[in-house]
Amino acid sequence: MNNQMVLNNGVVIPQLGFGTIGQEGDLITDNVAFALNHGYKLIDTANRYGNEVEVGRGLKKSGLARDQYFVETKLGPTLYENDSAIDETLKRLNVDYIDVMLLHHPVNNYIYAYQMLEKAYKEGKLRAIGVSNFTVEQLKDLLSKCEIVPAVMQVECHPYYPAEAVKPFCEEKGIRLQSWFPLGHGNKELFVEPAIVKIAEKYQKSTAQVILRWHTQMGFGLVPGSRSFGHIEENARIFDFAMTDEEIAQITALSKHEPIYKVTPESLARLAVTKCNFED
Ligand code: NAD
Repeated sequence: MNNQMVLNNGVVIPQLGFGTIGQEGDLITDNVAFALNHGYKLIDTANRYGNEVEVGRGLKKSGLARDQYFVETKLGPTLYENDSAIDETLKRLNVDYIDVMLLHHPVNNYIYAYQMLEKAYKEGKLRAIGVSNFTVEQLKDLLSKCEIVPAVMQVECHPYYPAEAVKPFCEEKGIRLQSWFPLGHGNKELFVEPAIVKIAEKYQKSTAQVILRWHTQMGFGLVPGSRSFGHIEENARIFDFAMTDEEIAQITALSKHEPIYKVTPESLARLAVTKCNFED
């Protein structure tokens, strides 16, 4: 069974989701349908991934009723002042509502974009709203100008970078953290960390499963990605064991205090102008 997280508006979502970045066409349709029938109840995508139509097909292909799965997506920065962008996202995904919608990056007019999310939330098109990749300063700016406290923030988070910069503030404000790059983007060094190997041997689990279980015991949501059925299934089998507090602390102590993905003025400038593949 998936562990669940209660959001600050009372909506309950699964901790574990399937991440869909970099997967397109029939591959992602098949992987979404497979994931939903093998331990996942939440699918994470984004306008920018360019695969919402195929993800939507996978939701239908799963054979599950709409209330049996959760859909999460992110508004692309070039659409932050486009008043029809949320309705068009619903159409691409072929759903009547989205469970969680986030602003993808803290660029462009993110206040206006968040107000679009607030409006769609009040209209019942979105069940929860949030942001991704915001700093504490940017969250404070948002909170001072907007009405609804974000329910979720998706950030880079894994044992080498356990979201230290934003965790205390988000906990204080009731903003649930959800980890992207939960496996450190498949980081080879992380998979053979002696502390993790030892714990994996004790519980008869793979090191990937130990890392993913760490996220859930830390209270994070997580959206691991994989292209193969084998890894997709393996990554969902993480709720049948529990590590001790000491083991969780050993894994957290591996932090290098540096993200793998480096945010720079150049990277933000690029994200601000890079269009989604369905834009002109
Ligand atoms: P990840 O940390 O989930 O690593 C995935 C990689 O690890 C796979 O490509 C595979 O090579 C490897 N892997 C997966 N399962 C494995 C296993 N059991 N054993 C060994 N190797 C395994 O990183 P990701 O896939 O790049 O990102 C996950 C998701 O996070 C994305 O699909 C996307 O949904 C989300 N994301 C969001 C943002 C954002 O800005 N909000 C940015 C990046 C990613």
